Amino acid sequence: MNVSARIDAVYAQVLRRNPGETEFHQAVGEVLHTLAPVLRAHPDYVDTRIVERLCEPERQIIFRVPWVDDRGEVHVNRGFRVEFSSALGPYKGGLRFHPSVNLGIVKFLGFEQIFKNALTGLAIGGGKGGADFDPKGRSTGEVMRFCQSFMTELYRHLGEHTDVPAGDIGVGSREIGYLFGQYKRVTNRYEAGVLTGKGVSWGGSHARTEATGYGTVYFVQEMLTARGLHLDGRRVVVSGSGNVALYAIEKIHALGGHVVACSDSSGYLVDERGIDVTLLKEIKEVRRERISAYAEARPTASFSARGSVFDVPCDIALPCATQNELDEQSAIALVKNSVVAVAEGANMPCTPAAINVLREAGVLFGPGKAANAGGVATSALEMRQNASRHQWTFQQTETQLADVMRNIHAQCRATAEAYDAPENYVLGANATGFLRAAEAMDAQGLV
Ligand code: NDP
Repeated sequence: MNVSARIDAVYAQVLRRNPGETEFHQAVGEVLHTLAPVLRAHPDYVDTRIVERLCEPERQIIFRVPWVDDRGEVHVNRGFRVEFSSALGPYKGGLRFHPSVNLGIVKFLGFEQIFKNALTGLAIGGGKGGADFDPKGRSTGEVMRFCQSFMTELYRHLGEHTDVPAGDIGVGSREIGYLFGQYKRVTNRYEAGVLTGKGVSWGGSHARTEATGYGTVYFVQEMLTARGLHLDGRRVVVSGSGNVALYAIEKIHALGGHVVACSDSSGYLVDERGIDVTLLKEIKEVRRERISAYAEARPTASFSARGSVFDVPCDIALPCATQNELDEQSAIALVKNSVVAVAEGANMPCTPAAINVLREAGVLFGPGKAANAGGVATSALEMRQNASRHQWTFQQTETQLADVMRNIHAQCRATAEAYDAPENYVLGANATGFLRAAEAMDAQGLV
């Protein structure tokens, strides 16, 4: 059997069946194009059409979300939940509230989540959801009413053993609180394990807020160590200034690195003295202002509304904002500035062309499925704590997070080597995640 031809046929079918869903096409293409050697070694998975099944979500839910703003005006948004794979556990993946959200974006995120969650080694399937709601400029009351309306429909599809959402872009602890409150109200159940990212005083896990950013830095540290390098004294650039970026910056500093630049959707800032993460948190999370306010508050910092944060010379770059933010041109600029490592804190932030440039230049590249898996892994640890009605300390949880990231790195590396592609973490992550999900699907029959 010609495995490559079979993969091409599956990809052509995905394009045909899901017209216009460009991000989904990109995510599927990236995985399929690494799977040929894996499928050659497992022809039974070709016969049982595991790949075709993985590309088709188990269930897709699209719903109306009506709500009323502070002036009494009615708005109608669109809500989504794509339940991709329950082979390894309940559907698990975040909710994104952003005006750009559409079915293709939710499906790309849900598809990637299958492999990422499998990589963690924890019992979680893959899913993702969200709405094309823009929380920017909305009052707390408006955000609460939106979350309540969203959950009034979504609740019937969720459950601690069925589907367990968490946060993502535009959904932080405030939104998780409103969503949980409404779930509790309409179901009359204090089912703590139905959402993760909850407040620590009402069922949340210590270190969940920090987990994605911290985990990304642990992954970078592992990649560097494996090459005989270290983080200490390295110049680092981080894109974004949200949940993932903030805690990546915090951990880089704790481990001796020096973050000199970060960004948001309005531009980027450079602070050669090192980004003051306390000030950045205050501006972005408490005051909910633009990043330019940081430059106004720190004389050593400058703000630029034009260009890319990746033009700032650095040894390590961590894209932690959104998909396709690091393109070929940015990758060329990074290589010209002798970047050593790039790790995806965000989901699919590097375009395929950018990844090629980085890999061909010998830059260590950590794909999001591996590098940012610390968030969902800690969500699974939150579910475990909820199931036992018990809470671990910050240190206990962070130790487990660090272990998970070390394991993910080791597995990706070992798998890549087994397929004769050393340091190819893209192949390592895709193949390891795929094999774990495929084995479970195979055992569970044609469902
Ligand atoms: P947040 O909403 O907390 O932060 C997002 C950040 O990215 C903000 O600084 C935002 O800027 C910036 N941003 C968003 N869209 C754009 C854009 N189009 N151009 C430039 N900047 C943009 O989200 P998170 O930090 O939670 O998520 C960031 C990424 O990490 C996403 O890809 C998400 O899927 C991924 N991720 C998140 C996990 C988590 O646990 N939260 C887990 C794994 C992956 P602004 O403030 O101007 O909107």
